[in-house]
Amino acid sequence: MTRTLLRGGTVIDGTGAPPRPDTPVLLEEDRIVAVGAEGVAAVVAGGPAPDEVDVTGLTVMPGIIDSHCHSTLGEPASNDELFHHRDPAGAALMAAFNVRKLLLAGVTSFLDPDGLFNIGPALRDAIEAGMVEGPTMRAGGWALMTAVGGTAGRMIPESGTAGYAEVVRDRDEMITATRRQIKQGADVIKIHVTGSVPTKRGELQVWTLDELRTVCDTAHDLGVRVVAHCRGAGATRDAARAGVDIIFHASYMDEAALEAIHEAGSSLCPVFTFLANLAEHGAKAGSTSAVQDVFRREMEDTGRMMRRAYDEGVPLLAGSESGFSLTPYGHWHYREMEIFVEHLGLTPLEALTTGTKNGAIALDQVGEVGTIEAGLRADVLVLDGDPSRDVSLLGDRRRFRHLWCRGKEVDLSGPWPERRPLPGEKLATWSAVPLTWDLVHP
Ligand SMILES: [Zn+2]
Repeated sequence: MTRTLLRGGTVIDGTGAPPRPDTPVLLEEDRIVAVGAEGVAAVVAGGPAPDEVDVTGLTVMPGIIDSHCHSTLGEPASNDELFHHRDPAGAALMAAFNVRKLLLAGVTSFLDPDGLFNIGPALRDAIEAGMVEGPTMRAGGWALMTAVGGTAGRMIPESGTAGYAEVVRDRDEMITATRRQIKQGADVIKIHVTGSVPTKRGELQVWTLDELRTVCDTAHDLGVRVVAHCRGAGATRDAARAGVDIIFHASYMDEAALEAIHEAGSSLCPVFTFLANLAEHGAKAGSTSAVQDVFRREMEDTGRMMRRAYDEGVPLLAGSESGFSLTPYGHWHYREMEIFVEHLGLTPLEALTTGTKNGAIALDQVGEVGTIEAGLRADVLVLDGDPSRDVSLLGDRRRFRHLWCRGKEVDLSGPWPERRPLPGEKLATWSAVPLTWDLVHP
């Protein structure tokens, strides 16, 4: 039996309670078995002496839970790359390589709502089986879309699957696809309630309330939750009315939408990180200012209602949308908590609960992970610094001293995983602008 005693550290338990200095934490196998001097003494008295780790002056907190991370996408810079430059075997190997970066960034669990070629459930099982080193994963399969498209316009085919999309054209196909995905191991069913069409501004609602109900009822009957991408007030409202469990983005949420969310008991995961990275740092990565403005406005407009929802008790989840070139793996998983402080006015301690305790809602593992409490899984991060004063510290991996995931200590000492590009992985362009006669003869 492995017993490890963390001694002398300040515990931030993830419940929103203030930090507790000099609080010992005892781990046994894959569990936290005691927190605090009294509890630890009682357990230690009845068994073998634990290995002691001196964490004096350090913070002991739950591992980060990312409620929205696409582990199989491989950091594409565009939909063209994502939909036309990936193949199933290569994407699976790449995902196995990338999930280790999440661990090194302090992430001990994540929800992958949808991904390429239905790789998610197999990757989850490979991690569970000890074949791939990574955080505990909960995974969806393909994202369900109507043929109008969803986030990728004309790249979405008329039927069948492409990339992370599965097109469902009518209610029969919605039921069939939902049942098949569940048979194939999906932990959640993901719906793209809104989608972009090249000739239209913004995203359109491409599912009816009735269609949404069809998927929710089919999934719920089989004990599986439904999550949904909603960029628009009407979509958010209808998703909640249909019974969607977790609503991503909820952009421009209005009164009716918030009311429906209350009634349904849905959780909100705004996933501002992608927008904020683009709006605030996109210029450094070569994004255009027009795109930056669109996302800045969306974040400001949505932020006000999101804060209200939080004040009224709707669970707020921290999801990073990691997996794209603007949100590469292992860099921004903490960032949503930072945005909640900066843009929603949460205290750092409140923000920490969204990326720890509330993350258990995303995983459907409430009472199993997310806090430092006796009986919960030993997912524990030890770092130098006080994130209850500044959550941004969680972005600096150099501060991490120890990490346990499912009770196993992760080696944080090695170099960051680097790789060379795979053949055919990136878009190859002939030129950035047309080579006109005028360009050559200024
Ligand atoms: Zn996403």
